This record gives sequence, C-alpha cells and structure tokens, in this order.
Amino acid sequence: MTKKQRTLEIIERLKKEYPDAACTLDYDQAWKLLVSVRLAAQCTDARVNVVVEGLFEKYPSVEALAAADVEDIETIVRPCGLGKSKARDISACMKMLRDEYGGKVPDDFKTLLKLPGVGRKSANLIMGDVFGKPAIVTDTHCIRLTNRMGLVDGIKDPKKVEMALWELVPPEEGSDFCHRLVMHGREICTARTKPYCDRCCLNDICKKVGVE
Ligand code: SF4
Repeated sequence: MTKKQRTLEIIERLKKEYPDAACTLDYDQAWKLLVSVRLAAQCTDARVNVVVEGLFEKYPSVEALAAADVEDIETIVRPCGLGKSKARDISACMKMLRDEYGGKVPDDFKTLLKLPGVGRKSANLIMGDVFGKPAIVTDTHCIRLTNRMGLVDGIKDPKKVEMALWELVPPEEGSDFCHRLVMHGREICTARTKPYCDRCCLNDICKKVGVE
C-alpha cells in the first residue's frame, strides 16, 4: 500500500468510526468562531465554549465587541489563559472586520491571515467549517497522529505538516479528516497515556512510529 492509499483507507475508516465530524467549538456566526479559535490557544474547547457565553452576551455583534474596552474583554476571557494578548488580538481583529470588511469575515485564506491573531490553523478552520472550502487544520492532535501513523515523517512544524498532508489528503476531505483526528486523538490515540492501539480501528495499517 502506498502512503496515499493508506491515507485514503485511514480517512474511510475514521469516517465509519466518527460519522459526525464537527468542530467542538460552539458558534452560530463566523465572527464568533474567529473569537473562539483565538481563545482556544492553550485552552480546552469546553472552557472556551463557557467563557464566550458571557462575552457574546455582553457584546453580541462585531461592532459591539470592536467598541469594547480591551481591559473588559481581558477580564472576561482571562479564564482561557493568555488573557492580555488574546484580548488585544480579539479587539484588533473585530476593529479590522468592522473598518475594512463591513463587519463580515472574509472567505479568502490570504485575507484571513491578515487579521490580528489569525494564523494558518485558524484560517484553515474558518475556511473549512464556515465556508466549506478545502482546509487542513494542523493542531496538536493532527501533528501527533499523522506522525504516529507514518503519514508524515518526523515533522512537527504545523505548516510543514499541513503542506505534507495537502499532498496526501483529497482537498474536500481535509476539514472533516482533521476533526476526526481530534476525536481519535482524544479517545484512542491519546497524548498523555500510551495510545490504545489494541482497540484502534487503524491498528493493522498504522506505522505506530514512536509508540512501541
Ligand atoms: S494504532 Fe495506535 S498509534 Fe496508530 S492511530 Fe491507532 S492508537 Fe494511534
């Protein structure tokens, strides 16, 4: 089996294992996902989902959040960690959306990257989840699992992993595949314990690099 064939088989098996691939950050509008994604750095999605409830209740629109005091945003988002820099980025990002993009989240990858606090991971997440476009989200689960599976070879840099996966993963599959890697990484191919290879649906086709 070539690496590409293995990738396609892994994609199909994970689809069966996790039929409902979805982002675990709650959102009903694109700008809210943009805020949540920034808050999710070094924080759990579950905590972000709780914290943003208070934030969006007080500031229910791009305009309201753009006009908010950065210090007040910081007070609200502090439980997510890195409160100062996250609040600064969120404020600057909302101001840019308001002033340059008519309050709308742009649907272009390069434009998204110009927004304060938005890196490739966040821009890909927005492209895939909000706009249904090809996306590869290289978070910690994606990087750990694709290395263990032998789909990438000892690459830890998120951008390099992303580029390697673009060569293997059909574009339309990328976004859901990455969501499923997160689910699999939380349940089976875990980071803090030895991965549960004995009950993994990929056991016979995974290279288990660094695991055994
Ligand atoms: S076989 Fe083991 S290392 Fe490979 S994906 Fe499954 S749990 Fe992870």
